Parts: sequence; structure tokens; C-alpha cells
Amino acid sequence: MCIVIAVANQKGGVGKSTVVANLGIGLAREGKSVLLIDADPQGSLSASLGYHEPDEIPVTIATIMTHVINEEDYDLTEGILHNPEGVDLLPANIELAALEITLSNAMSREMILKEYIEQIRGRYDYILIDCMPSLGVMTINALVAADRVLIPALAAYLPVIGLQQLLKTITVVKKRLNKKLTVEGILITMVDYRTNYAKDITDMLHDSYGDTAGIMKTYIPFSVKAAEASTAGVSIYKYCPTCKVTKSYEELTKEVMES
Ligand code: ADP
Ligand code: MG
Repeated sequence: MCIVIAVANQKGGVGKSTVVANLGIGLAREGKSVLLIDADPQGSLSASLGYHEPDEIPVTIATIMTHVINEEDYDLTEGILHNPEGVDLLPANIELAALEITLSNAMSREMILKEYIEQIRGRYDYILIDCMPSLGVMTINALVAADRVLIPALAAYLPVIGLQQLLKTITVVKKRLNKKLTVEGILITMVDYRTNYAKDITDMLHDSYGDTAGIMKTYIPFSVKAAEASTAGVSIYKYCPTCKVTKSYEELTKEVMES
């Protein structure tokens, strides 16, 4: 049975897109069939998977969601790209920004992405959605379409207020729109083990959210290799098979598969 995971945090730069790419390819390496959905008009997931000019991609998530809004017929494989590392990708680009405005006036505007995902989920083991850095209607669409939400958060600053807003939004979505939504956990990304500060914040996150959202057992260490791999358009497994950050992504993949 397919599991749909939204990767969300309204703060930018916390590692969402990097997690989607490397967790997705990690799952594919474990033999799972995986669709990654880019739901950010910046298209950074698409770019990090080697489609360096997302704005030049003709068919994207915006095209598909427009079909759904207008009740048009479309092929379920439309727009899906096949990444050489074994994942499928529904890309995004700047057109999603305009679509989000159209979406605001559409009937059942929170359910549009879900309508698409419900049709396509039978073809995959995992669908991961890379959310944009906002709690707007597009992110709500992702939370409505998802079974679980994974929340990347930095250990390098105090994210308490932002996380509280996000968890509150998740609670409201769960109550009104998607009863089956669960929190996979908070994933602490870019941990710099050389500082005590990281440890303090990690402890603080455990104290504040360990009981409610839960903290993933796996931490992702800070590594320039992670950023370099994205720039090169490949996964961390390909870019640096022996790196510590790669081992963490392998652990994260197992943790997600076991939960
Ligand atoms: P978001 O999608 O939340 O905005 P990104 O995944 O784009 O975040 O990551 C933000 C920046 O941090 C990018 O430049 C990315 O390459 C870099 N990055 C991601 N993961 C790591 C890591 N583990 N260590 C160091 N830099 C990272
Ligand atoms: Mg991103």
C-alpha cells in the first residue's frame, strides 16, 4: 500500500528539498517505487534532481492541478519525469505561483492535489511531497493529500514559534480535512556535532516536542557534500557514498520504512 508523506516546514532553508530528494532515492535504492512531487514554485527539488532550469519544463504540477480544477481529462503519466537514480518526479516551476492564486478561488481548493494523488497512488510504494516555505493553500493541499507529515527542522536556531504554528495547522487539517494524517516526526537537519549549541537545541526539541510530534531517531549532520550533491543534480549516495551524511540518509530511509 502506498504511503504519502508531505515534507513540510514554513521556514525556508531547513533542508526540506534535500530530504525529499535523498530520502526518495534512498527508498528507491531499497527497491521501492517512488514518486517525488515538487510543490514549491522555486523548483529546487526539480533542480537538485538535475533539471537545472525548472522554468523551462513545459508540464509541471501546475499543469496537472489545472486539469483537476477544470475537470479536464489527462493522462496519469503526464508530466512525470524519470530520474536516472530510480525515482519519478512531478516537477514544479514558477507557474505554480500563478496556480496558487487560481487555486484560492477554486471550489474545494484544499482537495485538488489529493484528487490527483488518489488516482496515481496505486502505482507507487511511496509518494513524497516537497512543500513550499509557507502555510498557504498549496501546503494545505499537500497536508490534505498526505498520510504522514515529516518536519525537517534546524538545530541551529530556536524554531519554537514556527513549529508551534505548523503543528497547529496540522491539527486543524487533521480535524477538518484529513482525519488520517499523522506526524512522522521532526527531523533534525544540518546538525553540527562540533558545537554544544546543537546539543542544547536538540535537547530542547526533545523536551518541547518529544511527546507530541516526536523526534526522528536519525539526525542529519551538517555536510557541505549534501549541498554539493544538489548542485551536481545527483543524490548524496552517488555523490559521496562513504560520507557520514550518506549513512544518516540510509538510516533515515530505514526508519521511515519501519514506522
Ligand atoms: P528547504 O527546501 O527547506 O528550503 P533545502 O533542502 O533547499 O531547504 O536546503 C537549504 C540549503 O541547505 C541548500 O543549499 C542545501 O543544499 C543545504 N543543505 C541541505 N542539507 C544539508 C546538510 N545536511 N548539510 C549542509 N547543507 C545542507
Ligand atoms: Mg525547498
